[in-house]
Amino acid sequence: MQYRKDRSGRDLSVLGYGCMRFTRKGAGIDIDKAEQELMAAYRGGVNYYDTAYLYPGSEAALGEILERNGIRKDVNIATKLPQYMVSSSAAIDRFFDEELRRLRTDYIDYYLMHMMTDLAQWEKLEKLGIREWIQRKKASGAIRNIGFSYHGSTEQFLKILNAYDWDFCQIQYNYMDETTQAGVGGLKAAAAKGIPVIIMEPLRGGKLVNMLPEEARKAISASPRGWTAAQWGLRWLYNQPEVTVVLSGMNSAEMVEENLKTASEALPGSFTDEDFALIRKIRDSIRAREKVGCTGCRYCMPCPKGVDIPGNFRCYNAMYLESKGSGRSQFYQTVGLTREPGFASQCVGCGKCEKHCPQGIPIREKLKEADRALRPLPYRIGLSVVRAYLFRGKKAGKQAKEE
Ligand code: SF4
Ligand code: SF4
Repeated sequence: MQYRKDRSGRDLSVLGYGCMRFTRKGAGIDIDKAEQELMAAYRGGVNYYDTAYLYPGSEAALGEILERNGIRKDVNIATKLPQYMVSSSAAIDRFFDEELRRLRTDYIDYYLMHMMTDLAQWEKLEKLGIREWIQRKKASGAIRNIGFSYHGSTEQFLKILNAYDWDFCQIQYNYMDETTQAGVGGLKAAAAKGIPVIIMEPLRGGKLVNMLPEEARKAISASPRGWTAAQWGLRWLYNQPEVTVVLSGMNSAEMVEENLKTASEALPGSFTDEDFALIRKIRDSIRAREKVGCTGCRYCMPCPKGVDIPGNFRCYNAMYLESKGSGRSQFYQTVGLTREPGFASQCVGCGKCEKHCPQGIPIREKLKEADRALRPLPYRIGLSVVRAYLFRGKKAGKQAKEE
């Protein structure tokens, strides 16, 4: 196993265990199977274990496995405050105390504000006294490092990054998301501030392994490197020294073994021109199936009406590259359920964006197409209901009424 440093110089294994995807058995988790896999990773040197309040049964399973094997003090637990469910200061304590109970511990090594998508969420927490709360928990030793996990635009990521003295952050990042979400810009900005970056979705939930187009599979098989699709995805990340830990939701012995091998071999800065060329080839073959040739460069932004142009296109493409459900679920996370939504229907057709698009995309026309696919009537109604619930009693953004 290789290790990279956290902000205080502590060694973190470059492979982290994502505990969201433990194998399920009936209504719960197959704890014995999860234990075998987790302990194999532990013996291979993995010392970072990521879970969350909202992953069903995950915190309790992790707590039980660590206690059964007496290894709590040898590992780092990362878990998360469901900040979008917090509406009072007391709720912050309630969630945290319950997490400690589930995890059978009295401290959390890495505590994250879960699924931040815009600065407004952090400002809401500030009003509830989160800064003072963090200070108290750190002083008592109940929290050792504080961070946030992020899905949203690069601009909002940078705002959150600069809004507080974070110890670490967690972003979705892989070779298809190099310029979307926090992206390489966000990764480098965090690294420049000395903030370790934990990577989630390194293989887009396995889709960069299981849903590759035929041309991509052929290119991988023909490469003299002999790496698997998963190895290409992980090695592309390890090649970047700004990456600290790559989380993998491991749920088979083979997956643990393969990932341990990659994490022990892949060095930063080791990619050759041929390796980058192969990644480009894979990426191009994926993009060939895309509906819109948007590269996520964001030259078209900001839209005066708040449309998240690259966000809409990314999710529209994901519907055809991954699955309809995946594209729509990404859309809800990053465009539809933020306080200021970026719906295509907010477009008034001014055409400003098209003047700046280096790809020459007929943005207005493609936005309409994307919106029809992403929000057919039943989804549109469902989304309105969820938004009304989430933002009840609050000003949900001037555009929300235009849904
Ligand atoms: S044409 Fe639509 S999407 Fe483009 S800048 Fe104008 S309002 Fe925004
Ligand atoms: S300028 Fe064009 S390619 Fe770049 S993000 Fe906007 S739509 Fe996509």
